[in-house]
Amino acid sequence: MKVPLLDLQAQYRAIQSEVDAAVAAVFATQGFILGPQVQALERAVAAYCGATQACGVSSGTDALLVALMSEGIGAGAEVITTPYTFFATAGSIARVGARPVFVDIDPHSFNLDPRQVAAKLTPRTRAIIPVHLYGRMAEMEPLLALADRRGLVVIEDACQAIGAEYRGRRAGSLGAYGCFSFFPSKNLGGAGDGGMVTTSDPARAARLASLRNHGMEPKYVHHLIGGNFRLDALQAAVLNVKLKHLDAWTAARRRNAARYDRLFRAAGLAPDPLTLPMTPCGAAGRPDNEDCRCHIFNQYVLRAPRRDELRAWLTQRGIGNEVYYPVPLHLQECFAPLGHRPGDFPESERAARETLALPVYPELTDDQAGAVVAAVRDFYRG
Ligand SMILES: *Cc1c(COP(=O)(O)O)cnc(C)c1O
Repeated sequence: MKVPLLDLQAQYRAIQSEVDAAVAAVFATQGFILGPQVQALERAVAAYCGATQACGVSSGTDALLVALMSEGIGAGAEVITTPYTFFATAGSIARVGARPVFVDIDPHSFNLDPRQVAAKLTPRTRAIIPVHLYGRMAEMEPLLALADRRGLVVIEDACQAIGAEYRGRRAGSLGAYGCFSFFPSKNLGGAGDGGMVTTSDPARAARLASLRNHGMEPKYVHHLIGGNFRLDALQAAVLNVKLKHLDAWTAARRRNAARYDRLFRAAGLAPDPLTLPMTPCGAAGRPDNEDCRCHIFNQYVLRAPRRDELRAWLTQRGIGNEVYYPVPLHLQECFAPLGHRPGDFPESERAARETLALPVYPELTDDQAGAVVAAVRDFYRG
């Protein structure tokens, strides 16, 4: 049995008539730039995330970029983040002219280790960008406390974490900004690129709205140097439809993850040789349950011995899988000027060697999950 890593066809089949009608409605008006669909999505996403305002933008990458621009972070500034994330987190810091200052991850959660942040602060540090990797919330309390004491801005990279919760608060409502992506593989994915920045500060919201449209208000009067970071009306129309299904999809992803956990334990594969994703919230290990959605499983990621061999084995058998991410950012060629070398962030490097993502999309069936687990079992028995 073949099991794809993600099956967007299955999702579309379930909502096709709603999506097609929403797209047709935008075509009927021929209003493609910003407009009521985008405003409706901004209100809905802000409410969903527990923020007072939101600004639709062209991608998750541009969400990060425009949040940094809104704080005036640029040349001479330093921004703390993790090297074990998608490129855009650190790429956007470098693009505004600031320096990404990496801090290693906690090996259990794969998220920025708050205990290592204080040692990296300098008088030039302006912000911290924690990433809620794979859909699991970063350990926010110590980061927020530190940021508060030192006057730093916290920008959540919540691109993989829409709807995730930390001690009852949703991703995007804890930092000064929450940055979201609607890339098709995210839990809330559009028909192309899109993103959103949440905030609960009206002054910040006004700056975001201005910056995403050339700092222009009214037409041809420019207060700030912004750019074209607008969200398309077509994307917003599709996303307004999909947002209504997000809670059901998230619940299905969480059920799929719990089922893998059960099956891997029953097969004698966990806790050894496989390390299952850590679901309890925070360092205190508060149990995860329906009331505390600490992990929304944008990805279900195992730590697996002989990872590359396992990967090849699964691929050969038609089982979708992926490595997020094979090369930590401090070792990327484009960041060579930062002067890092192998060994600088050992947990990030180890995670890059040992982790593997398995299919966890909402429509995954019992049979498919069983086939994934059987293929992994056969590999370690063989
Ligand atoms: C997807 C993602 C981004 C970038 O989002 P795009 O919409 O693809 O630009 C940034 N950070 C993380 C952690 C992501 O997963």
